[in-house]
Amino acid sequence: AKRIGRNNYQFYNQHIGGLTKNTLEMASLLHRALQYEEFSLHYQPQYRADTEQLAGFEALLRWHSPQLGQVSPADFIPLAEENGLIVPIGEWVLRKACETNKKWQLEHGVFVPVSVNLSLRQFYQQDLVQRVADILFETDLEPQYLILEITESIAMQEDAAARILHDLRKLGVCIAMDDFGTGYSSFKQLRYFPIHQLKIDQAFIQDLDSDNGEAIVGAIIALGHNLGTEIVAEGVETEAQAVALKRLGCDLLQGYFYARPQPEEAITDLLKIRT
Ligand code: C2E
Ligand code: CA
Ligand code: CA
Ligand code: CA
Repeated sequence: AKRIGRNNYQFYNQHIGGLTKNTLEMASLLHRALQYEEFSLHYQPQYRADTEQLAGFEALLRWHSPQLGQVSPADFIPLAEENGLIVPIGEWVLRKACETNKKWQLEHGVFVPVSVNLSLRQFYQQDLVQRVADILFETDLEPQYLILEITESIAMQEDAAARILHDLRKLGVCIAMDDFGTGYSSFKQLRYFPIHQLKIDQAFIQDLDSDNGEAIVGAIIALGHNLGTEIVAEGVETEAQAVALKRLGCDLLQGYFYARPQPEEAITDLLKIRT
């Protein structure tokens, strides 16, 4: 469509249900963001609850748009999911995270997995398993150093999801169930899906100090352990939360109390200090 100016957007604003001027502008900028190299990854460290040793990193996408400034993934990921751009963007994220993790192995001798978020659309793209295999081959990263984070929403198509997950598992990568406890039918999925990690949603961590907070988190941890999964708490912001999670037997801790998501160079500096 021809771009006539701001008033043109006003027109769309009135006539396209749900789309605002801002989302239209953001969508058009998002289309070029990959090509103009406006994306970067931040990495948030995860630590073992018992030893406080480094246990992994979660890769988190950042978009700096020259026009819009820093845009939160909470704002642009849903948009990219809607228009399909999440597939090429997600592939870029996967490759970049694997490449960087390989570099940390070679240059710093640090061998921990990197966790990458998969969107719904990316999960159901035709050749996801082959794409992941190709990226691991290209970056020369062994599959056990990649964790794919999915959410309960993939269970909308339960049989298809189970098939894809088993194929990914055959490849040797690990699967984490993100935001656990916020979706629906969580328990049923756990029986059919090969899951290595459960990530307790941060809402439960924030509620730890409420009346039934500990009971619920304790139950999730026990459930996960009985099913043979590792438990990650995310959004750990206070020492009191960390102490409670350790007492409850949580395996891995992630959150601002330990470290914020940081650019690759800052993590590299952190790794230099360690070794
Ligand atoms: P998520 O996967 O649940 O990621 C955790 C979010 O919590 C991140 O927000 C992280 O920065 C934030 N966080 C970490 N520690 C704390 C803490 O102690 N307190 C609080 N309040 N927040 C904490 P972020 O980076 O803004 O990402 C938001 C969401 O965007 C992610 O939620 C994920 O769903 C999505 N996302 C981010 N990167 C990607 C990506 O590469 N691909 C896809 N498909 N989605 C992504
Ligand atoms: Ca995540
Ligand atoms: Ca999460
Ligand atoms: Ca989330």
